Amino acid sequence: MAEYTFSAACGSCHAEYTRALSKYEAAFFDSLDIDTHCPHCGQRPKLSRHSLPDIDLELLEAWFADESLVFMIQDEDLIIAVTPLPILRAAIGDDPARAARLAEALAVKFYDDLVESDEERRWLADFLRNNGELWRPVAMDYIVRGVDKRL
Ligand SMILES: [Zn+2]
Repeated sequence: MAEYTFSAACGSCHAEYTRALSKYEAAFFDSLDIDTHCPHCGQRPKLSRHSLPDIDLELLEAWFADESLVFMIQDEDLIIAVTPLPILRAAIGDDPARAARLAEALAVKFYDDLVESDEERRWLADFLRNNGELWRPVAMDYIVRGVDKRL
């Protein structure tokens, strides 16, 4: 069995089918034009699901390089926010544009306290304190209020 898959049930002929995906295809499924039609009758599937790989440095590099890629159409910030902070920090490096693109997810990470240590919490607080112009305009109001309360 492939590590990453797309599985579906056809609404027309009721066949169930699965196809292998690369990690890249699974991670960016919503933004790629992946053929999901039933191999038996050619109709679109009724029910479908696909693997969601953990976000790693390789996927973040691809995401930074192509602005049309999204990890998920909805709740992208939340799934980035659950990524371990060391991976996000490594992906940002010292690139301000990358920091800007991840700022909203970092605010969510701090708001939901998705950290492994006090050191990570402090790093996030410092980042958010020093880069308010990056996340305040784009984050949801309750996130801004909740983060501000704890900075
Ligand atoms: Zn079918």
